[in-house]
Amino acid sequence: EVVVVGSVNADLVVKVDRRPAPGETVLGSDLVVHPGGKGANQAVAAARLGARTGIVGRVGDDGHGRLLRDALAADGVDLAHLATTPGPSGVALITVGPDGDNSIIVSPGANARVSPADVAAARDMIAGAAVVSFQLEVPLPAVQAAARTAAAAGGRVVLNLSPPASVPTDLLALCDPLVVNEHEAAYLLGGGEPGEPAAMARALLERGPHSVVVTLGADGVLVADASGAAAVPSPKVEAVDTTGAGDAFTAALCLRLARGDDLRAAAAYAARAGAAAVRRSGAQPSYPTPDELP
Ligand code: ADP
Repeated sequence: EVVVVGSVNADLVVKVDRRPAPGETVLGSDLVVHPGGKGANQAVAAARLGARTGIVGRVGDDGHGRLLRDALAADGVDLAHLATTPGPSGVALITVGPDGDNSIIVSPGANARVSPADVAAARDMIAGAAVVSFQLEVPLPAVQAAARTAAAAGGRVVLNLSPPASVPTDLLALCDPLVVNEHEAAYLLGGGEPGEPAAMARALLERGPHSVVVTLGADGVLVADASGAAAVPSPKVEAVDTTGAGDAFTAALCLRLARGDDLRAAAAYAARAGAAAVRRSGAQPSYPTPDELP
């Protein structure tokens, strides 16, 4: 019912007391390797909430690729269209400073090879999904091809504009909804500081998507479509680590839209999944089963 077209990365995390200056070496903590990537995060989050979920993407023929495959399989994600590319898997090199601040370098690896040909090979899976979810960590031509395939088959296209990048108008016009946080919203509206959320949602709607969801962290969500805008609160929870909250939110939104909820009801459910994900550290390890939702 939900298909994710997106990235699969190994997150390599080292804690440091301070970051090295150019030419300098510092010692860090033991390396921790987590399965990550926005696409894989969303697929795992949707599957864990009970969605029949498939992923379209690529990993490398290395140890990370095997780890990433195993993590997706453990949550029951359909891997028929997760291809293996000669060469390295995508990795995110993450240093965590003393204040918990992350500095991240993403090396796309196999994700950069996801192509319209992969989308053509996965046509039946994409066309059979009620909702197809996209982010921007795989090349835009693949995203565009898959979004067109999904929409032509009557599926619903959900695009998370993350990491923020400009996208063609005809892709925006397929989105129902476009999902952005405040920074991504401000980026799409021409840069500068985020404005008032309802005003940003209205301005984003004018860019052509059928509907818009602006996530506001602990402050909840704003949903907007042609019938108007509505604010949806987030449950109050103790925030431990917000990594991957947006992916949990989007996955849960896709699940409820696939099951027939309207946008506002789906966003209310998704806010519970996003809130659950901030209660534990990490991305995929923090994702809830239905009985863990606040
Ligand atoms: P992103 O991770 O993409 O920056 P947000 O920070 O807006 O996105 O988080 C996505 C969603 O996760 C929010 O809309 C909200 O539902 C939930 N969420 C995030 N942070 C919190 C928090 N501190 N308390 C409760 N819910 C949260």
